Amino acid sequence: MDESIFIKILKKEIPGEIVYEDNDCFAIKDINPQAPIHMLVIPKKPIERLSEASPQDSVLLGHLLTVVRKVAKNRGLDSFRVAINDGVDACQSVYQLHIHVMGGRGFAWPPG
Ligand code: 5GP
Repeated sequence: MDESIFIKILKKEIPGEIVYEDNDCFAIKDINPQAPIHMLVIPKKPIERLSEASPQDSVLLGHLLTVVRKVAKNRGLDSFRVAINDGVDACQSVYQLHIHVMGGRGFAWPPG
């Protein structure tokens, strides 16, 4: 797997606003926000998409959700939308697993 644009941001090879980092993951502000607050929580491990994660990634996947909760709380969100796009039909555009965390407005359901 080629180094993703997100890892380039982490390595400061390209600009990006990192709002959280620990040993296993990091979070950035989305460059094209779909809500007043839109962050991406990304594992450092190169996993292309959720459907490529293995049972050995279970602890990491759980950790990512804990970090989702943390970054949402840090931004003062008491209600937020979490999304993972997996593959073409789901409009995944960057093939490094990432969790969208969006808040600051109301959301419709179904999402479309
Ligand atoms: P996907 O469509 O794969 O679920 O989401 C990819 C997300 O990455 C999009 O929301 C897009 O705006 C964001 N994105 C793409 N390139 C960059 C970039 O260079 N910097 C940042 N911060 N976000 C990006």
